[in-house]
Amino acid sequence: MTKRALCLLATAAALLCFAALFVLRSGGGAEPAVSENFRLGTFVRLSLYGCGNADEELAKGDELIKSLENLFSVNIPTSDIARLNAAGGAWTRIDARTAELLEASLALAELTGGAFSPALGGVTALWRIGTPEARVPSDGEIAEALKYTDYSKIELRVEDGAHFARLPRGMRLDLGAIAKGCVADALKSRFAADGVRRAMIDLGGNLDFVGESPRGGPWRAGLQQPERPRGEYFGIIEAEDVSVVTSGPYERYFEKDGVRYHHIIDPATGRPARSGLSSVTVIDANSARADALCTALFVMGSRRAPEFLARRGDVRAVLVTDDKRVLITPSAEKIFRLTDESLALSVIGAGE
Ligand code: FAD
Ligand code: MG
Repeated sequence: MTKRALCLLATAAALLCFAALFVLRSGGGAEPAVSENFRLGTFVRLSLYGCGNADEELAKGDELIKSLENLFSVNIPTSDIARLNAAGGAWTRIDARTAELLEASLALAELTGGAFSPALGGVTALWRIGTPEARVPSDGEIAEALKYTDYSKIELRVEDGAHFARLPRGMRLDLGAIAKGCVADALKSRFAADGVRRAMIDLGGNLDFVGESPRGGPWRAGLQQPERPRGEYFGIIEAEDVSVVTSGPYERYFEKDGVRYHHIIDPATGRPARSGLSSVTVIDANSARADALCTALFVMGSRRAPEFLARRGDVRAVLVTDDKRVLITPSAEKIFRLTDESLALSVIGAGE
């Protein structure tokens, strides 16, 4: 086995240990047709229920994931994102799907006041968290990289149907906090177009449910207890036709001199966010939006995230604080059930 394959397997095993969300089965439904592959730096599992041409659909789904990874990955030198990062400030032709992802990213960066930022590539490349080369950069390196993170300077244009983008010289994109969601949305559209009525898409931390669960009615997703063995959950989401996305500091991190450095960066400091939250889950029809909002809410932290959520009544979210409180939005009340009663549950905005 090559060194790279071994490294991928080690990463995969580590990620499996830290999966933040998992499907709870309760029997009664037909067995799905399943494909499992290592894609997007994580384990990807597609499950189709009651689908006549499941093998063909699963193969098409995997091809779609690979084609989008080839456009969006910072690690693939020929991807649109890697070419933009290397363009030195020049206009670069990109695929329509990359343009769409960049537009969505800019809108979500605006919506979250920059807590989600697509332009942190220079900073995340310094830390390299999630890789064997993870390290603590110097203050000077971080200050230098932060000069090139003003996402409002990203330009997009369309000419004769062709899409182009330009970054300021020195800026690097990293769409790791939204691209998995975008891939899930593309899969959902493909399955819908092909008449797949029930499916589950699991992109390691992003779960997407198509239609009803196999036993009829809502699907059930367990929300991982932060810092506890995999499979221990503190609550359950029950819903149909939604994306459930979780972000937390316990998924990808490294330790140096007794300090833990996790992978969600505060764009204001260029360092792992000091959040006061140990887990954030967002439930939304749109997986890219859920993915980006989840990361942004984690960055906002235990004080600012509830304020943001109270202002925006349309986001369904479940937050867990470091001091073991569970905060949910009123819109999440119908679909969330707390199973660990040692945690204190409150509804954001109630009693104010
Ligand atoms: P999220 O919270 O959704 O995202 C965190 C990630 O987003 C961080 O790892 C960082 O990359 C970035 N980020 C950090 N802070 C912010 C912020 N404030 N705003 C915006 N973005 C932020 N992993 C590998 O190990 N090897 C690979 O080859 C690899 N290829 C990938 C290719 C693609 C197309 C995608 C989408 C992901 C890939 N990954 C790879 C995984 C990736 O590095 C992240 O670990 C993953 O997307 C993070 O998802 P999450 O749900 O854990 O966390
Ligand atoms: Mg995210």
